[in-house]
Formats: sequence, C-alpha cells, structure tokens
Amino acid sequence: MLVVVVLLVTVLLRVAIVTAVVYLLLPQGALCPHCNLEMVAIRNRVLDRLVPVLQRRWCLECGWNGVVRRVRTARARTRQRPTVPRWTPR
Ligand SMILES: [Zn+2]
Repeated sequence: MLVVVVLLVTVLLRVAIVTAVVYLLLPQGALCPHCNLEMVAIRNRVLDRLVPVLQRRWCLECGWNGVVRRVRTARARTRQRPTVPRWTPR
C-alpha cells in the first residue's frame, strides 16, 4: 500500500512540475511575442471558466495566435462607467 501512495505522489508531483513549467513558458500579457504589438483577445467560454489565468489572443499584424498568461490591469480591476457625451444647447 505504501508503494502505491509513493508512486501516486510521485506522479502528482510530476504533473504539478510540468504544469508550472508550461505556465511559466507561456508569453505574458497582450503584446505579441513576435512583433511586440498589442493582440486582440479571443473569447472562449470554456477556457475562461476552466483556466481564468490564461487567455487566447490573436495578432492582427503577423497572424500569431495562441494562449498567453492573462495580466490583470488597473483598468480591468476597476470597472468604469461608459461616458456619455453631454448635450449642450447652442
Ligand atoms: Zn505579431
């Protein structure tokens, strides 16, 4: 029984290490890893629900698309109300 537990723990440790390394190898943020321009976010409900720290993005300039690490920005944390232009009588 002890052998099974040790082997199971070893397998779980391997899975955890591989997951951490793959996460750290992913590009971070909204900038393209090739041309360094801002990419467009592609919404994927399944990916957003299962792994909210990852995001799929697409570069309009060079066509690169892939999964990147999501970066929390100050604009995303504080929701801003849409500004409505005021009508001024003339
Ligand atoms: Zn690009």
